Amino acid sequence: MITVKELTKRYGAHTAVDALSFTVDKGQIYGLLGPNGAGKTTIFNLLSHIYDYSEGRVTFLGRDITESDQVQVARMGLSRTFQNTRLFAGLSVLDNVKVGLDQAGRYNLFEAMFLLPRRQREERRIAEEASRCLEVLNLSQHSGARPATLPYGIQRRVEIARAIASRPRVLLLDEPAAGLNPEEVLALIDFIRLIKERFQLSILVIEHRMDLIMTLCDTIYVQDFGRTIAVGPPAKIQKDPAVLAAYLGEEEV
Ligand code: ATP
Repeated sequence: MITVKELTKRYGAHTAVDALSFTVDKGQIYGLLGPNGAGKTTIFNLLSHIYDYSEGRVTFLGRDITESDQVQVARMGLSRTFQNTRLFAGLSVLDNVKVGLDQAGRYNLFEAMFLLPRRQREERRIAEEASRCLEVLNLSQHSGARPATLPYGIQRRVEIARAIASRPRVLLLDEPAAGLNPEEVLALIDFIRLIKERFQLSILVIEHRMDLIMTLCDTIYVQDFGRTIAVGPPAKIQKDPAVLAAYLGEEEV
């Protein structure tokens, strides 16, 4: 799905991501671990083209996207969530998910004014698709609610629903369990499993919560000072001496 070669990002003299290489395979879940400031969010910002690369190349679905912009990469099927929930407070859950279906650009002003039936059809299609997405994800009962009235764990799920409504191929989750209580984390783990199965996605997840990372991920990349210090399945990462020394102190994960 994605091949990253020697990806580097510098902020002045500081190298936040240093010659990072990895691949993302279909239907796999990858974890990005590392202490604060290790460069994890920068990697997401590079993949989703919020930031330009300093060096390196990235291919997505076999196409070189090094020169692509944010919108092109999103339309190709790369979607993400952010560290802080970014739902629209004034919109219902259903309308938030409709936003994820990217109405912009499907018709221009002329079409909007003169091709009303087509526009109405398109809006109906978007509403149906958003409802279907909520149904598949067991969120239908919250459809008419404003996000702020819902528990935080549900808001997180709605945000993920919005990110996957457009059926992306790859989903980037930036600390999805931040601020959730242990019960909500367990529900989130089940939810991420459900979306992987139903939507046949590859998922990259940044998370400090070890329970989530160790339970969900097929492969974990551990970053430290912008470099990859360990790669492998959870069982291997838990015992990796470089990880224990650099990230986890002397304790096991
Ligand atoms: P956290 O777990 O705290 O979110 P992280 O691993 O995601 O950390 P990044 O946010 O990617 O780390 O930051 C990596 C390094 O790059 C940090 O030293 C940070 O201060 C620096 N950095 C990130 N964004 C910028 C920016 N826009 N301008 C300058 N430096 C930045």
